[in-house]
Amino acid sequence: MWAEEKVCVHLCGSVVNRKEEGMMIKHIDHIGIAVKSIDEGKKFYADILGLKMQKTEVIEEQKVKTGFFPITDSELELLESTEPDGPVAKYIESRGEGVQHIAFRVENIEEALRELKEKGVRLIDQEPRKGAGGAKIVFIHPKETHGVLVELCEKE
Ligand code: ZN
Repeated sequence: MWAEEKVCVHLCGSVVNRKEEGMMIKHIDHIGIAVKSIDEGKKFYADILGLKMQKTEVIEEQKVKTGFFPITDSELELLESTEPDGPVAKYIESRGEGVQHIAFRVENIEEALRELKEKGVRLIDQEPRKGAGGAKIVFIHPKETHGVLVELCEKE
């Protein structure tokens, strides 16, 4: 069920449609792009587009090195595998470099996860795990999302 049109909570005057029920998606947090090399990928996103890479971070658990380029409320996340058998390496092996996942920011990841389970949504993670920048993240199975690996994340 859809609520009537509401004015954006940021009081910017824009009108947003917000579901009455359902988890609160705040905005697109980041778009994850699988690259063979962050140094190579950076040549386009930084040198050509002029985006600034904030930092790189290795997430051992996911065998990945990440580089974030903030853009307003969102970021581009370049993902480089640190191991030949990591998920990003496997992704590139089968599909080549490109958009690997889209992340939505939620208010409360535990609540969002509970709701997804109640609705019988297939998940990759049954519990939140640690993502870059200390975020709590959960991946939803691409079979549920029409082919896109969707991440939900909660950040401080
Ligand atoms: Zn991500």
